[in-house]
Amino acid sequence: MIYLDHNATAPLLPAARAAMLDALDRCWANPDSPHAAGRAAAMAVDRARSAVAALVGRDPRELIFTSGATEANALALSGLCSDERPEVWVSAVEHPSALAWGTRRMPVDGRGVIELAALEAALGKGADRVAVLSVMAANHETGVLQPVAEVAELARRAGVPFHCDATQIPGRVTFTFDADLITISAHKFGGPKGVGALLSRARLRPLLRGGSQERGRRAGTPNVPGIVGMGAAAAEIAGTTQDPGARDRLEAACRALGGLILGEGAPRLPNTLAVLFPVPGDLVVSALDLEGIAVSAGATCASGSSAPSPVLAAMGVHGTPVRFSLGPDSRSPVGCVEAALPALARVMARMEVLCASS
Ligand code: PMP
Repeated sequence: MIYLDHNATAPLLPAARAAMLDALDRCWANPDSPHAAGRAAAMAVDRARSAVAALVGRDPRELIFTSGATEANALALSGLCSDERPEVWVSAVEHPSALAWGTRRMPVDGRGVIELAALEAALGKGADRVAVLSVMAANHETGVLQPVAEVAELARRAGVPFHCDATQIPGRVTFTFDADLITISAHKFGGPKGVGALLSRARLRPLLRGGSQERGRRAGTPNVPGIVGMGAAAAEIAGTTQDPGARDRLEAACRALGGLILGEGAPRLPNTLAVLFPVPGDLVVSALDLEGIAVSAGATCASGSSAPSPVLAAMGVHGTPVRFSLGPDSRSPVGCVEAALPALARVMARMEVLCASS
């Protein structure tokens, strides 16, 4: 199988798997227990905390381990609201786990890039009611990168805390921006599913309450093997980025087949390509699957839903795209883009005949 769906999830890195197996054997105790076995588990969690914080370039004390990016977004976007500041502003192309908390959506242009002038004008009028502004670093469906540094500066001037969902960043491009709160998720960069983190400089009202774990910011016995796996993956990929070469090669081939590139002209992740072909994207995805090539139609979290993606709707795009998202191995035999090109051409030729005759 040629796996080109890394934005949905990345395969577990061997280093993460080994660290998790070791943690299952040796760090099975409760990290809050007052004995040697508990301390071993607590030390493993602390090592992972340092590795994950280093990946983002932040202080480990700011890091709250969560069950993934969905929970990290929920904590960031619920935890700062008050009677005086009840509003949560989000960009219109956020992941559904952030959109769900938004009380107002900031517009984007046809490429999917936030309209800075509109954001500035909105902040100029109503910032004093805003608890938090959330704008993602890179879009999961199109790979479009947002001007996060400019957004952060607008938020700072308006006195509004800024949250950035950076789930699609690690291992692809470097963290060059700052935010009061940052979300990441282990399974997007070679760690396990079901573990993520929120890095927060702000004091938050916890979402999960009860125990005093994570300095009282997230109650519940932590997922020790998951956290250890996240730490190992973070240490492994720290400082690495992806080369856009394989994506560019695929992009040229898609264009030659009549594909329209979403987010064209905007800065984009080096691994992501969302293409609107002249035939329905979901059919292309199924046909590629039969050829042994794994891609998706837009976001995986919307699979099974017939509603149009909010990301594409905000960009004014109609139709179902095909999303190719490459891993660092996209030149290797497993992830080889070169090997996918003849299959893509075959599938498109078949689809055109099919759609023309129906
Ligand atoms: N935000 C973004 C940008 C994502 O791509 C995803 C995963 N598709 C999430 C949040 C949710 O992540 P998780 O699966 O860790 O809950």
